[in-house]
Amino acid sequence: MGTAKVVLRQGRARPLWFGHPWVYANGVARVEGDPAPGDVVTLCDHDGRFIGQGFYNARSQIPVRLCTRADEPVDAGFFRARIARARAARARLGLPSERTNVYRLVNSEGDDLPGLVVDVYGDAAVVQITTLGISARRNEIFDALEAELGSKTIFEISPASYAELEGFAAGSRVARGEQRTTVSVLEDGIALEVEPLSGQKTGMFIDQRETRARVGALARGARVLDLYAYAGGFSLAAARGGAKAVTAVDSSARAVARTLAHAAKNDVKIEAVEADAFRFLETATPRSFDLLVVDPPKFARARKDLEAARKGYERLNSLALQAAAPGAILVSCSCSQNVDAESFERIVAAGAKQAGREVRVFERRGPAADHLLPPGFTEGQYLKVLLCYVV
Ligand code: SAH
Repeated sequence: MGTAKVVLRQGRARPLWFGHPWVYANGVARVEGDPAPGDVVTLCDHDGRFIGQGFYNARSQIPVRLCTRADEPVDAGFFRARIARARAARARLGLPSERTNVYRLVNSEGDDLPGLVVDVYGDAAVVQITTLGISARRNEIFDALEAELGSKTIFEISPASYAELEGFAAGSRVARGEQRTTVSVLEDGIALEVEPLSGQKTGMFIDQRETRARVGALARGARVLDLYAYAGGFSLAAARGGAKAVTAVDSSARAVARTLAHAAKNDVKIEAVEADAFRFLETATPRSFDLLVVDPPKFARARKDLEAARKGYERLNSLALQAAAPGAILVSCSCSQNVDAESFERIVAAGAKQAGREVRVFERRGPAADHLLPPGFTEGQYLKVLLCYVV
C-alpha cells in the first residue's frame, strides 16, 4: 500500500475516475508524506476519496501514473497477476497463433503498467522501460515474465531519453537467459529476423501488423511502392498478396539489407532502394504505382514542431499522389501523437490539392488490437492510418 498520499486539486479528478491513468503536475493540490521518486503512492480526490495507486516521480510533468484502482500491494504477485491478465487479453484477441508469434503483450497504460512495454518475439521477450517506477521493479517483472512465458531470452531496452527525464540508468542488454542478438519470428506466416537491441523500437513495428495484412489483401496485380520500408514489412505482405512488382525505399542501408534478406527468406521478389523518400518521389515516374504505402518516422516530436510537421506530411502525401496511377490506393500513416486524426486527414486533403489529385477515404485505422488503451487516453493515440482511393 502506498503510504504517501497525493491529493488532486478540486475539479481535476473526473478523467481519473473514468479511467485516465495520468496526473499532471498542475493537477496536484498537495503531497502528504515524503514519497521518494519511484515509490508507489495513493491518489485521492480533493475530498479525500481513494482513486487508486500509482508510481510517483516528482521530476516528471506526470508525477503520478496509476497502476491500480484497488488498495492492494504493488509487489511481485501484483506484477505476475498483471502479466497473466495481459496474456489472457491477447489470447482472447487470437495472439499468439500458428501464423503469428510476434505481438505486444504489455502496452503500458493499456495494461495498467505505465512505463512498461513487453513485446513477445517467438521464444524471446523484449522489455522496454520508460519510467522510474517500472525500472525500480524490473527484477519482479523479469521474474513474472519468465514464469508466465518461459522465454528463452529477455531483452531489456531502457532508452536514454526517458531514463534521463525520469532519473534511472539507460542501457540495452540481455537481462535474462540465453545471450543472442537475433530472434526468428513469424508474422502472418511471413518469416522475419529481428535484432531487438540494434533495431528500431523493440526490433520491429508491431503496431502496423493488421495494416500490413490489409495491404497484402489489396495488393493483387498492383505495382507497389513502400516508402519508409524499414525491414520490408509492407513489401513482404504485398509481394505475398500477389503484387505485380514491389519497390521498397528506405534511407538506411541496414534496413535495405534486411528487406532483401527477408525477401530471399520468404521467396518473394522485392526491389529495395536506399534513398531519401522525398528525393525518390521527386524523380519517380508520375502515375506509375497502384498501391503506395507511406509510413514515415514521427515528424512532430514536440508541439513546437507541429507546423513543420504539417508541411512535411503535406508535401510527402502530395509527392506520393503524383506517383499514384488513377485507381491507385494510398495508405498514408502518421505516428505523431501531436497530430490528431482530424488534422492528419486535413493534411492528406491538402496534399491531394497540392498534387492536383482527388482522393476518397475508405478506411481509417490505428495500431493493431494488441495495443490496448484505456478509453479517453488520447495521449496514447499516436498512430493514424488513412486508406484512400485515388480517383
Ligand atoms: N513501414 C515499416 C516501418 C517504418 S519505420 C514497417 O512496417 O515495419 C520508419 C523508417 O523510415 C525507418 O526504417 C527509417 O530508416 C526510415 N527513414 C527515416 N528517414 C527516412 C527518409 N528521409 N527517407 C526514407 N526512409 C527514411
